[in-house]
Amino acid sequence: MPRPIHAVIHQQALQHNLQVARSCAHQSQVFAVVKADAYGHGIERVYPALKSADGFAFLDLTEGKRLRALGCDKRLLLLEGIFGLEDLFDCAKYGISFAIHAQHQLEWLKTFVQLQPDVQFDVFLKMNSGMNRLGFVPEQYPVAFQELKSIEQVCSISHMTHFSDADGMRLGQEGIEHQQLVFTETIQNLPGKTSLSNSAAILRHHQHIQSDIVRSGIMLYGSSPDYPAHTIDHWNLKPTMSLRSELIAIQ
Ligand SMILES: *Cc1c(COP(=O)(O)O)cnc(C)c1O
Repeated sequence: MPRPIHAVIHQQALQHNLQVARSCAHQSQVFAVVKADAYGHGIERVYPALKSADGFAFLDLTEGKRLRALGCDKRLLLLEGIFGLEDLFDCAKYGISFAIHAQHQLEWLKTFVQLQPDVQFDVFLKMNSGMNRLGFVPEQYPVAFQELKSIEQVCSISHMTHFSDADGMRLGQEGIEHQQLVFTETIQNLPGKTSLSNSAAILRHHQHIQSDIVRSGIMLYGSSPDYPAHTIDHWNLKPTMSLRSELIAIQ
């Protein structure tokens, strides 16, 4: 007998939470973020409930392959992009889009398309609009965009950024308004779809942020991104996992 401990994943709650993301971001495509094995829930376990999402986003190529193995034909996005040139073989084979956040990734792409000229990629160009984690700073961004655009095998470029403080109260230089302004100004004359919001931005700022694609993560799994300021009841989210066990003794 294994120990009588079970983590039960609630399909209806996952579906409900996806619906909450959809209703907040009703003008956007909703990508379900399933990084870290669906935030610990298991990609295979959550997929049946989340399969109606417009796409899936993750950090590890194997997570994309697992989605394809489940029969997923939606758009897939590697959020941090590739970790080496050879990853592009899999991106091409499995139809996985990827972020480009740094020059070395651009160089890998240029080398790859010389080896395999028959490929096509949808690329998400990442801007560091203030989070200071990944991405091209605004001064470099248009240059990177033009470089990407000149690669024949790149069939679309979407503009992507990530907020540092969508769950907080900071305004001005550090808040999301500032990042949004930097982003909008930088892409002003550049064509392409946009992807900005994570869970906190979807829930808290959906009236002010236009994003063609939103990337909902933690909210799907029934966790409030700005707890304790707001609970899941406030955001109408439902818990998606219950831990159950049995009493084995009473003393
Ligand atoms: C994790 C992640 C998300 C989702 O963030 P949540 O706060 O969990 O909704 C979105 N975009 C990127 C780039 C991420 O790494």
